[in-house]
Parts: sequence; structure tokens; C-alpha cells
Amino acid sequence: MLPNFSYVRPKSLDEAVRHLDSPENRIHAGGTDLLGCLRERVFGVAKIVSLSGIQELKGITETAEGGLRIGALATLREIAESPLIRSKYPVLAQGAAEAASPQLRNQGTLGGNLCQKPRCWYYRGDFHCLRKGGDLCYAMVGENAFHCILGGDACYIVHPSDTAPALVALGATVRITGAGGPRTVPVEEFFVPPTQDLTRETVLEHNEILTEILLPPPPQGLRSSYRKVRARRSWDFALAGVALALQFRGEEVAGGRVVLSGAAPIPWRSVEVEEVILGKRLDAETISAAAEAVVKNAEPLAQNDYKLPLFRAIVEEELSAIAKV
Ligand SMILES: Cc1cc2nc3c(=O)[nH]c(=O)nc-3n(C[C@H](O)[C@H](O)[C@H](O)COP(=O)(O)OP(=O)(O)OC[C@H]3O[C@@H](n4cnc5c(N)ncnc54)[C@H](O)[C@@H]3O)c2cc1C
Ligand code: SF4
Repeated sequence: MLPNFSYVRPKSLDEAVRHLDSPENRIHAGGTDLLGCLRERVFGVAKIVSLSGIQELKGITETAEGGLRIGALATLREIAESPLIRSKYPVLAQGAAEAASPQLRNQGTLGGNLCQKPRCWYYRGDFHCLRKGGDLCYAMVGENAFHCILGGDACYIVHPSDTAPALVALGATVRITGAGGPRTVPVEEFFVPPTQDLTRETVLEHNEILTEILLPPPPQGLRSSYRKVRARRSWDFALAGVALALQFRGEEVAGGRVVLSGAAPIPWRSVEVEEVILGKRLDAETISAAAEAVVKNAEPLAQNDYKLPLFRAIVEEELSAIAKV
């Protein structure tokens, strides 16, 4: 059952920020994650601040420089179906299309997708684990088949978003507004790993709102794609995934990023794979070396070493596919 709360629907960002004067007041975008957290008593709430009346948080528009500005309230469906995004940044359209179910993509927003809470079943259940301020990681000693193989430290969640790896791969930034005024943060620095602070997932303060996502103009020779492996076809979070945004000069990889989902507590940049492919043609030898490199530093838990062959396979398949585009 949902707890009692008051509800406001401000018409401007300033008004919304004023309502966020307590950590118990929560932002509501599409509500697909927030309402689940409240129902499951993951955290409490005094006031819900709906963003839905703030027009400036909507829309997808091209910038003067040839990049893209996506309002935080753009839905996952709008992103998956946008002709602009599909043609210029396919990795992002594919990430949005792979998230959740059609109903959730109609309602869920890009801002909410980046700010959603972890899916660890102990965190979502009645367990006062480390991330909730307790003194034990239940996953470490319990069921950890869906947890991380990279970047874990005291907490072993995997980041749940399918759009975040695409945005990191594309070098996107987010604009944030709060009581202290606006600021811009690269998406790569937006997420907080457990090594830094395991009680928060993003750099947002409780009174800050993510207002828009900015994509740089696509560089010359950009090819991009997102691949996700999940346990069920209907809807499910990634067991393993890879976002590629690579710049080609002829047949050679001249730059770009490789970012993993389902691997780590944050969207995980695989510098190991990037180093193997940079300056190379994606021939069989390079692809095979990249597939080994992706799990070089992995530290699987007791029940999730099945992820190692999964990551090797999707890196091999996706690099082979992008080489032929
Ligand atoms: C059954 C199910 C399956 C799912 N499967 C997937 C999946 O496979 N892949 C995937 O990527 N996601 C998945 N999701 C997550 C889903 O995509 C997110 O719930 C959705 O994108 C969140 O958007 P929302 O607008 O509904 O966010 P809300 O629920 O409104 O908000 C989510 C969180 O973000 C905060 N927030 C929202 N907007 C802002 C903002 N602009 N600024 C600051 N804070 C904000 C809220 O306070 C809240 O804590 C799934 C969810 C469900 C329920
Ligand atoms: S993995 Fe993180 S969220 Fe899950 S039980 Fe451990 S500390 Fe809690």
C-alpha cells in the first residue's frame, strides 16, 4: 500500500525547486519507478512534486551546432521512435526501445530512467542493507545471480538503465537545476560508484532536478548500436549489454566508446576493449582480442560467472556487426 503524501503540480522549474525543500519530498516524472519504491517502502515520502506541468522539460529538438536537446520528460517511446535520434544516434533509440515494456515506455521518461533506483531484490525488499544505511550486503552472502561482475565494492548492484550506457557512449551531458542554480555534468560523471558513496546513485542533491540531456553533434564516421541480453523476451533488465559509439576512418576504428550494461553499479566504460580496437580494423583477430579484454578485470560473485561468456559473445557479435555497417 502507498503511504500518505501531499501532491503538487508546479508550472515552473523555480516553483518545483521550492517544493523540494526536504529530502522527504520526491520528484515524480512518469512514476513507473517511484510508485514501486513507495509501495515497497524503499524510502518514505511527505510530498510528491510532479514535473508533468512544466512545459520546458518536454520535447526533442536539434541544437544550432547540430547536436540534440532532449527534455527530461521525453518518454522512452518518443526517444525510441524519434526519426532524428534513430538516424543520428541509433544507439540511444535502440537503448530506449529495449527498456521495459511498451506500456512502461509510454509512461517512463528519460530523466526518470537515468534516476531510477537499483533493482537489487534485497534493496527492494525488507532488508536494511548497506545501501539503505545498514551494515550488511545481503547479496554478497545470498542470491547474487543478477549482480555485478565489475566495479563492485561493498555493494554489488548493476545499473538498471538501458539508455544510460548509450548516453555515456555518445559523450552526452545533463543539465541540472536546483536551489544553487543550474549546472552541467557529463553523463559519465553523473552516476556515483559504490567506491565513492554507496548510499547514492547519482550526483543529484534532493532539491535538484535533471532538466535536459544534451547530445553533441555526431562526429564524422560515427556508427553506433546497443545490444542487450535478458532472461525473458517480454520485458526484463539486462543480464549483459553493450553500447557502441565508434568513429571509423575507412575500415579503421579512429575513436569512440564501449559501454557495458548489466555489468557494474554504473554504466561501465570498457577501456580494455577500447584500447584493443583503437587504430585497428575490426578483423577476426582484433574482435577475438576485444572479446577477451571485456572480462579481463571481471570479479564474478558466487552465482554470476555465466556473465563472462555472455559478455565475450555480445562484444564479439556487436563488433562483427558494426564492422559491416
Ligand atoms: C516492470 C519494470 C521493468 C523495467 N525494465 C526496464 C528495463 O529493462 N530497462 C530500463 O532501462 N528500465 C526499466 N525499467 C525502469 C523504467 O524504464 C523506469 O521506471 C522509467 O524510465 C522511469 O521513468 P519515470 O519517468 O517513470 O520515473 P519516475 O518513476 O517518475 O522517477 C524515477 C526516479 O527518478 C527521480 N526522477 C525522475 N525524474 C527526475 C528528474 N527529471 N530529475 C531528478 N529526479 C528525477 C524520481 O524522484 C524517482 O526517484 C523498468 C521498470 C519497471 C517497473
Ligand atoms: S548489492 Fe547493494 S543494494 Fe543489494 S543488498 Fe548489497 S548493499 Fe544492498
